[in-house]
Amino acid sequence: MPSEDSPPPTTSADASVDVVADAGEGAEAVADFARVDDGFDRLWTPHRMAYVTGERPSSEQGDGCPFCAAPDKDDAQGLIVYRGELCYVVMNLFPYNPGHLLVCPYRHVPLYVDLTDAEMAEFSALTKAAISALQAASNPMGFNIGMNQGAVAGAGVAAHLHQHVVPRWGGDMNFLPIIGQTKALPVLLEDSRALLVEHWPTQH
Ligand SMILES: [Zn+2]
Repeated sequence: MPSEDSPPPTTSADASVDVVADAGEGAEAVADFARVDDGFDRLWTPHRMAYVTGERPSSEQGDGCPFCAAPDKDDAQGLIVYRGELCYVVMNLFPYNPGHLLVCPYRHVPLYVDLTDAEMAEFSALTKAAISALQAASNPMGFNIGMNQGAVAGAGVAAHLHQHVVPRWGGDMNFLPIIGQTKALPVLLEDSRALLVEHWPTQH
C-alpha cells in the first residue's frame, strides 16, 4: 500500500480523471448528471433506427428488387459507389462492417453461372477495384469476399446476384453480433460511400 506522502499517480487513467476535474467553469462533469450507474457501457447509435423501423428489401423482381432499383436513383440516394457498363458497386444497407460493399450486375439474374462472359469480367474487375478502394480508404486487415447463392445459402436477395466485399479488422467480431444480433457501426453509410468514391481506383 502506498503511504500518504506517495507522489501523485501518473497513469493515463488517472490523468483523464484529472482532466475532467480540472475542466474549468462551465464544463459538465459526469458526476453532475442524474444517473444510476449499473456498470454497463452504452453504445449510442441512433442512426440504426433507420434499419430497425425500415422495411428489409424483398427479393421480388421489379420495384421490389433493391438491386434493380438502386441504379435508377442518383449516386448518393442509391448509395452507389461506382457504375460500370454491365455491373455496379453499392453500399450494403445492412453492413457487417463499415465499407461493406456489394458488386451487382445490372441484370436481374440469380446465379453466377447466369452471367455472360463480359458481365463476369466486369464483375471480377469491380470486385478487385472494391478491394483496392477499401485498402486505400480504411486499411483493413483482411476481407471476406463471396456470394451466397440461393436463400438456403443465406442470400438476403436471392433473385439478384451480388458479391459481398467485407473489410475486416481484428476484434470486429465480438459479443454484440454473436449474442445480441447487433452490429455497432461507427461510420454512417453516406460517409463510407463518399470515402470510397474518393479512393476508387482510376484503373481497374
Ligand atoms: Zn433485381
